[in-house]
Amino acid sequence: TVPAEKSDVSAATKTPTTLSSDCIINFARGDPMLYEPYWKNKGDRCKMVTLGDELMSYFSNALNLCWFLMPELDCAIRRLHRVVGNAEADNRFIIVGNGSTQTFHALLYALSSPGHPEPVSVVAAAPFYSSYPEETEFLQSRLYKWAGDANCFDKDGAYIEVVTSPNNPDGSIRHTVVNREGGKSIHDLAYYWPQYTPITHKADHDVMLFTFSKATGHAGSRIGWAIIKDKAIAAKIVKFVELSSIGVSKESQLRAATILGVISEDCQNPGLEEENLFEYGRRIMSARWKKLREVVMKSNGTFVLPEYPRDYCRFTGEYTDSNPAFAWLRCKEGLNCEKLLKDECRIITRGGTCFGVEETYSRVSMLCSDAEFDFMLERLSTIKN
Ligand code: PMP
Repeated sequence: TVPAEKSDVSAATKTPTTLSSDCIINFARGDPMLYEPYWKNKGDRCKMVTLGDELMSYFSNALNLCWFLMPELDCAIRRLHRVVGNAEADNRFIIVGNGSTQTFHALLYALSSPGHPEPVSVVAAAPFYSSYPEETEFLQSRLYKWAGDANCFDKDGAYIEVVTSPNNPDGSIRHTVVNREGGKSIHDLAYYWPQYTPITHKADHDVMLFTFSKATGHAGSRIGWAIIKDKAIAAKIVKFVELSSIGVSKESQLRAATILGVISEDCQNPGLEEENLFEYGRRIMSARWKKLREVVMKSNGTFVLPEYPRDYCRFTGEYTDSNPAFAWLRCKEGLNCEKLLKDECRIITRGGTCFGVEETYSRVSMLCSDAEFDFMLERLSTIKN
């Protein structure tokens, strides 16, 4: 089995430019290529030119607690959260990392104490993002250890609960489930953006994680950020990034600042002829979900998809549907969903066991290019009951 999100990056065949009828197509990874046509249309508004003598220093703002955070990115992140209303970022510490992946590692370090007799237990309610167990176990740290499904966690002692909302893989809205005094939590809000889910409230947890990858599709820039209330925790995250990479690429930070700035500008000037990114993303995602549900309905119960409640979105001012970044397919009892999709449709997906649940489930990415998505639906619709 290939449990890690990232293992698919190395295993990934490059997306074929022409899709032949017998090729195997990979829907196991969440590479957000659906946004490419949107950004192609932006032309020079997102262009960045850097000269040879620019951005040379390690330092971005020596006076800031997060001394490697570019002030331009700091402002662009705070502005976008204000515009979207999805998270409280004012009067909070913002720490940038090399993707939210590095920031997650930094948080495990920051939330566990060196003096503890035993490693802190790290849990998440199943189905959980398949990289959490791998990332937690990778260095066999004495500070923390993976302790599995939060729903079954009954061990005494310190713990960290990771809450992903909307959840990867199943798109559900999540809250902490352990709720023990002294417990700590990491709220991974990678998908809490209007193209994926109604923005029902302004999130204001002690520790929140966001990523440029899923917000805008720029996964290759490797920018993620944590929003933190407590100064001592923020300082420990900074220390981790300092020791593991002495900061984060300034070119990437400036590119992220430019792109986030364009999004905020478009959202604040709705008279423009162009759609803002969230309208575009929501339109594409909702059309994809509609088509997928039609195909699944015709499978006569071979496949089932979760249903999501409609809710009031404070960003759009309308009741909207959830359009999760992944489809969480369930097969008939006794079937191995991942194997069925591979053997019958030549579609590679990630099976339920990677996410801590049964093999009747498999996760299919909804973030590929248009051509790949239509091709996948065609394959899926050929499956016999
Ligand atoms: N958290 C979740 C829930 C994710 O789905 C992903 C990407 N698959 C990440 C974190 C990692 O994001 P990044 O590209 O910023 O490392």
